Amino acid sequence: MDGAARGLIDAFQERFPDSACAGVWRAPGRVNLIGEHTDYNLGFVLPVALDMACYVARGPAAGGRLNVHSRNMNDARSWPVSALPTLQPSKDWSDYVAGVAVQLVKAGYPVEPSNLFIHSAVPFGGGLSSSASLEVSVALALLGDRVMDRVELAKLARRAENEFAGMPCGIMDQYISVFGQEDSALKIDCRSLEFEVVRLPAGIEIVAVNTMVKHELGGTAYRERVAECAAAAEAIRRRHPEVASLRDANLDQLELIDGVPRQRARHIITENRRVEDFVAASARGDLAAMGALFVASHRSLQHDYEVSCEELDFLVETATAIPGVYGSRMTGGGFGGCTVNLLEPGTSARFQEAMAKAYRDRFAIEPRFYPCKPSHGARRIA
Ligand code: ADP
Ligand code: MG
Repeated sequence: MDGAARGLIDAFQERFPDSACAGVWRAPGRVNLIGEHTDYNLGFVLPVALDMACYVARGPAAGGRLNVHSRNMNDARSWPVSALPTLQPSKDWSDYVAGVAVQLVKAGYPVEPSNLFIHSAVPFGGGLSSSASLEVSVALALLGDRVMDRVELAKLARRAENEFAGMPCGIMDQYISVFGQEDSALKIDCRSLEFEVVRLPAGIEIVAVNTMVKHELGGTAYRERVAECAAAAEAIRRRHPEVASLRDANLDQLELIDGVPRQRARHIITENRRVEDFVAASARGDLAAMGALFVASHRSLQHDYEVSCEELDFLVETATAIPGVYGSRMTGGGFGGCTVNLLEPGTSARFQEAMAKAYRDRFAIEPRFYPCKPSHGARRIA
């Protein structure tokens, strides 16, 4: 048993002294290397599961209730399990947990009266997907010894976020949290829900840099982008009925779309292409090409998709001027959160020092750095 599991069990027993801990489950956060906002357009993404994860300890509860304590939030919730089928969202962190419980019941997996103790090492709202790691770890903890198909598990966690937390996200975050592999990225086809293991070249380090800001706009803009992409696909479909989503569209068809949705579609079409090109560049060990694709992806997100912000743009500008940096781009939904950077090994300390100084001078904020070690997907750890 690892140290994290031991710590969780102790914390669980302290919080729920009358309940015997039945197990600890872990689900990782992720950093997406390339393929941003393509998942809900049924395209390609290339994420890596992180060694930062959400941990959930579970034990049986008395009184027919589901009791939940989040150490990060220092807050607790409790629902009668009999009320789960008709539960309504409460517009706070507990929706991610309740949403999973509700979806399990709907899928025919009754939720046993339980105590859950939650602790996460994934930063919140940083674009590293603390939400999906919470959903997946809670789903596994509530399933216990019952097995569920792993793709169904990812889909269920996504439905919790879509239907209960109210975010129309794609499948990427939950899928990589379930399926992540050590030392590898996964190229996920968000339509077929199949993946290809992508081994990254030896000569790179991945470092995420947190702007430490999350602009309010984020949630609203995300919903807007989902709607704009649907409108763009609809406009193409009038002429080309085979275009079920922007995944199927090509650049020649852009002229069929008017206004802003045309710009959004251009990002999606070129970004799907960049995922393919990045995988090819990685296979031939072409670090310069990989870096250039990172920057091209950022420009497209900045100008066509318009989901970047001043802080993210500044971090990308600063990073790309530092020797030993192959490329830099925003990662995750945008409007704050993290950039992901490809570095020459051995340059990380110098990179962090230069980035922190520049960011501090410009915004008076201390950025955070996360070296990203590709790690395994969700599982029981105790
Ligand atoms: P991201 O997934 O990029 O971190 P989101 O806005 O999608 O950002 O999800 C962050 C939210 O998920 C938090 O604000 C909180 O409501 C919830 N959350 C994540 N981890 C935990 C946790 N360990 N305990 C309670 N809530 C959590
Ligand atoms: Mg999230």
